[in-house]
Amino acid sequence: MPDRSPFEVIKPEVRAISAYALTHFEADVKLDQNENPYEIPADLKRRIVARVLERDWGRYPEFVPEQLIQTLARFSGWSEDGILVGNGSNELISAAVAVTLGPGKTVAIPQPTFALYELMAKAAGATIQPVPLNEADLSFDVETLLEAARTSDVVIVCSPNSPTGSVLARSDARRLVSEARGLVIIDEAYHEFSGGTLFPLLEEFDNLLLLRTLSKAWSLAGIRFGYMMASAAIAAEIRKVKLPYSVNIFTLAAAELIVEELAVEGSVNKLIAARELLAAELASREGVEEFPSQANFILFRTRFVARRLFDALYQAGVLVRDVSGYPMLERCLRVSVGTPEDNTRFLEALDRALETLE
Ligand code: PMP
Repeated sequence: MPDRSPFEVIKPEVRAISAYALTHFEADVKLDQNENPYEIPADLKRRIVARVLERDWGRYPEFVPEQLIQTLARFSGWSEDGILVGNGSNELISAAVAVTLGPGKTVAIPQPTFALYELMAKAAGATIQPVPLNEADLSFDVETLLEAARTSDVVIVCSPNSPTGSVLARSDARRLVSEARGLVIIDEAYHEFSGGTLFPLLEEFDNLLLLRTLSKAWSLAGIRFGYMMASAAIAAEIRKVKLPYSVNIFTLAAAELIVEELAVEGSVNKLIAARELLAAELASREGVEEFPSQANFILFRTRFVARRLFDALYQAGVLVRDVSGYPMLERCLRVSVGTPEDNTRFLEALDRALETLE
């Protein structure tokens, strides 16, 4: 038998990274994953199920789900040949990384941000060029980002950014895309809560790729659906590496009906109003520093070790996210905006914890 470890076949880049994993905690008040607490109407769910029951489950879904792509084209205003659909937007981030990054390639990524970008880029063997946010208010450092973009193959920006809630202004994004040497990927997972989108830039530039998801504003994290919009030429390349049939017949039916019929403004407006109330409440508390957010979550810092405050909240039945391991986010937690009742429970638990941890 040859003397070797089976792990030697695993790429060193992969062995060097830790898995993106979330320990699933149960809690009465679940404010840890930026989910939408408002479920879609029960009647719409039943119609989705009825549509799936009409199909043959023993047959594959369409190779290219044309009807859904037409629906998305009508909804978004983008052309069908520039739209790709995926099993969550995560799948499309992965596909975009696969066609652009590898050894010898560089990707600029603001920090802190959604951890998956860096993980995928590292697994691909690319070099990461981190671009720290401005430390004072965690806004984007636009000039440094532009500088990095001029020399990188790819730039990945999340706007509004997770876990900070910061937004890249349209004028800054225009400069970024126009001056970038390569492809600019903008993840708009939370854009509905900001009231804005960088969509108009797609018409102007062919090196921009926008990612969207139904997991947040649309209340469908469990359904797993995302889509991307880019030039037809870029979409055609990414299509080559996407796994066939990754969007199953259930998700196809759900996405079609929901994009055709669901008005998300109701729940989005409720969450925006609740975010503003929650931000004001946090700002009024001594010893709590909250960062301005345009998403459905708020990042805040206290003087306590984040894990201790996290544990105290969890003991009180409130689950938030400990993000203190991210660069610059020492002593920070992130709380998703929930229903008014959830947010009150969170604030009560926070007040008690701040008192007892003294
Ligand atoms: N982008 C960002 C910034 C996110 O926070 C998330 C969800 N945590 C996603 C993408 C993933 O979206 P999806 O559920 O569509 O895969």
